[in-house]
Amino acid sequence: MIGASQFERAANLINLDDYLRRILTRPFREVQVEVPVRMDDGRIEVFTGYRIQHNGARGPCKGGIRFHPDADHDEVLGLAAIMTWKTALMDIPFGGAKGGVTVDPKRLSKLELERLTRRFTQRISIVLGPYRDVPAPDVNTNAQVMAWILDEYSSRHGYTPAAVTGKPISLGGSLGREEATGRGVMYVMIEYGRDFGIPLAGSRVVIQGFGNVGGHLARLLVSEAGAKVIAVSDVAGGIVNERGLDIPGLLAHTAAGKPVPEWSGGERIPGEQIWTIPCDWLVPAALGGAITKETNASSLDCKVVVEAANQPTTPIADRILEERGIPVIPDFLANAGGVTVSYYEWAQNLQQYRWTHEQVNRELQATITKAYLAVRDLARGRSVPFRTAAYAIALARVAEAERLRGN
Ligand code: NAD
Repeated sequence: MIGASQFERAANLINLDDYLRRILTRPFREVQVEVPVRMDDGRIEVFTGYRIQHNGARGPCKGGIRFHPDADHDEVLGLAAIMTWKTALMDIPFGGAKGGVTVDPKRLSKLELERLTRRFTQRISIVLGPYRDVPAPDVNTNAQVMAWILDEYSSRHGYTPAAVTGKPISLGGSLGREEATGRGVMYVMIEYGRDFGIPLAGSRVVIQGFGNVGGHLARLLVSEAGAKVIAVSDVAGGIVNERGLDIPGLLAHTAAGKPVPEWSGGERIPGEQIWTIPCDWLVPAALGGAITKETNASSLDCKVVVEAANQPTTPIADRILEERGIPVIPDFLANAGGVTVSYYEWAQNLQQYRWTHEQVNRELQATITKAYLAVRDLARGRSVPFRTAAYAIALARVAEAERLRGN
């Protein structure tokens, strides 16, 4: 599993028992299903889907469902484990899970996508539930997909909004959920910048990926923190403007379905050039495996890497950055805002009460800042990278829950 040596480093730091190392490096339960879907032309196509529950010692398993051609067993397992560390580090009462279907959703019509989602939900519903395992959106799934999952689940169990998060607001979704991941990244950057002498106001930010996370982050960094976002990219390429990009203008451009490099407000660059632009903050916010030994780890020119995506830095690249003295704020700290507000959504559903957007943001800032401070203090105290400190805190919490539950 990716990051195994990073796990060992943290486990050694807290002298973790051998039996717990074994439990925590393996999944609690794996479900693999074949999902037959009737296509619009009458044929039946069969897709493979996964729901992997990595650990549920601290609460119901929690994690997104992605639809992607590369979604396979190992990727889903790695992402499920990250969810365990993320929920433990945020100290919210969830475990970790992830789901995926190996499919290119761009090939499907909307009706085919709905039938796929419903069939997949039927096949995994035996392991789901508000106190068992709660799905959420991930790459290529959104509030509409969550609404179909909720409808399918509720048709068997009755009205159960807490069975899924990231729902549309009108079906019990939370205010502030959509921007929560980007907002959480900003809150962590504010604290880090204050502690390590890189104040966000006026600082130079480069972002790879301009989807949900990258787009909201760019907007908030400019409008609420006074930062200068000088370059962004998407799958089609990048754009740079040393004076700072007009982010609301760029968001309007991409909302119309147009690619980032076709925007006129900056100089067009090839996507890979984004990595060598001198900046204060470099934020990978696209897919995993973006920073590697073979491509860019030796040529990044930033003060700090902020992992807004999941697993954007390979373990070997992580070592190279450490040797080069470039700190990395790890994914399961930086991008935990999404699952944190998913927890608020779940709590609101169980309370049958709606929080205001301001309350959601206030709670999110308090939760993620507390986690950041714990990581910072341990990293300083034991002279270890942030990733090792974050792992150690998360591991210790999950291990304690496992120990208390007994065998
Ligand atoms: P998204 O699909 O909304 O956006 C992805 C963006 O990345 C798009 O702009 C796409 O064009 C771009 N991209 C894809 N491949 C690229 C490439 N090779 N080079 C440059 N850009 C590329 O996805 P998202 O929800 O913003 O998620 C982004 C990352 O953040 C993923 O790793 C996801 O797992 C992680 N994440 C998301 C959330 C959330 O709440 N959405 C929470 C935690 C972590």
